[in-house]
Amino acid sequence: MRPLILIVLLLSAMLWYQNQQHPQLQHNSLLTRIQAPLDTRLRYRIAEVDPRFGLSHAEVVQLAQQATQIWTEGTGQDYFVYDSQARLAIRLIYDERQHESEQRRLQMGQIEQQQQHWERQQTQVQAVKQQIQQLNQQLAFKNAQLQQQLNAYNQQVQQLNQQGGASATQRSSLKQQRQQLEQQTASLQAEIQQFNVRIAGLNQQVDALNQLNQSIDASVQQFNQRFQPRLFDKGSFDGKSIRIYEFQSAADLRLTLAHEFGHALGLGHTHDPHALMHPLMQEQNLDHFQLTTADLALLQQR
Ligand SMILES: [Zn+2]
Repeated sequence: MRPLILIVLLLSAMLWYQNQQHPQLQHNSLLTRIQAPLDTRLRYRIAEVDPRFGLSHAEVVQLAQQATQIWTEGTGQDYFVYDSQARLAIRLIYDERQHESEQRRLQMGQIEQQQQHWERQQTQVQAVKQQIQQLNQQLAFKNAQLQQQLNAYNQQVQQLNQQGGASATQRSSLKQQRQQLEQQTASLQAEIQQFNVRIAGLNQQVDALNQLNQSIDASVQQFNQRFQPRLFDKGSFDGKSIRIYEFQSAADLRLTLAHEFGHALGLGHTHDPHALMHPLMQEQNLDHFQLTTADLALLQQR
């Protein structure tokens, strides 16, 4: 009996010592720890992926591996290993949080589309405004020219009247001039009318643009009322499982998993908003994340 008691005691001492050195090991099964006593990696498995997330089991396995890679690259150590028999289970649970998150993205997309439409219309309106300004200058120039011609004609008539009247040839030339000036006046008036139609059209476009702007403002207000910024719990770690409730993209899920893995290593939160262990996923670099000094400090302190 004695040797057996000694072995049990030694084993307990070893497990206790390992728990102090590698807190993540307390989440491994006892069997694994006895079978592979020198392996300090935390074993995890993907236990549940709600199909409504639109990700396959294999995709989540891959993302989880990439999440553990963040820890490996940041520390030079392997802290995690996938094991389909692991005690630590990762579950992707679909509830109103993810539903709300999808609605948020959908509405955000609609608002962005409206804004893009507004920008295109705005560019068009600016182009029309420029054309109208040019046209306005042209018409003003034509009008000034016509006024000069009219003045010259009137002066001529006055002079002839002072000289005691015009000859038959002069009268016929004046008549011709007058007809020409009348034609020019009529044609300028027609152009001005067309110009006014264009201005009315432009005003309609500006009105439509303003309405669109108001409708975008209303949408943004509605959006802000419905989706207030919140400290949402995207994921949780309770010692036995990592539960994920919400993510906006594969990259977001990867980082959320890496964050919960951090809790599984025994780490708490940090104030550095760029750190993995910050309670909010907002300012981190989702696509090319590297552990920050704040994350590494937490690991040192544990
Ligand atoms: Zn956390």
